[in-house]
Amino acid sequence: MGVNQPLGDNIVITSLDKLVNWTRKSSIWPMTFGLACCAIEMMAAGASSHDLDRFGIIFRASPRQSDCIIIAGTVTKKMLPVIKTVYEQMPEPKWVIAMGACACSGGIFDTYSVVQGIDEALPVDVYIPGCPPRPEALLYGILKLQDKIMQERNSFGAAFGLGERVSAV
Ligand code: SF4
Repeated sequence: MGVNQPLGDNIVITSLDKLVNWTRKSSIWPMTFGLACCAIEMMAAGASSHDLDRFGIIFRASPRQSDCIIIAGTVTKKMLPVIKTVYEQMPEPKWVIAMGACACSGGIFDTYSVVQGIDEALPVDVYIPGCPPRPEALLYGILKLQDKIMQERNSFGAAFGLGERVSAV
């Protein structure tokens, strides 16, 4: 036991894909980006009582440093180009969470000005229902995203340009 032998006589066997996936799922950095009332619940999830930091989740103020975008709120057609720009500025790999009824389907706003679900523009990985979903629901959605990241294949190879990363369905 000691600094020189942290594992004692034990060894750890895993695949490089799993190692890469594990590091990615343990350090999800979502873009600081809110659109409407759901964003308040997202902020509550990041505050001390729910404490997203314990999952390695730290909100970033720049798309260049983010690998996840949580669409929290009503997506208007006027705002959609901005959301797309922010998403395109995020480096790969990146994931999308649709938080709340508005982001999932337009919610109660079946109107000319509201996008009827962000999946019309972005590839959504996790949908979280509710109006608004509570912070616990967002936490559960993030845990589901972590499960999904752990099931990705060829994560290591893709990082070196060898083939494509294969996402879980
Ligand atoms: S789902 Fe409900 S709480 Fe969330 S942005 Fe839409 S109206 Fe607001």
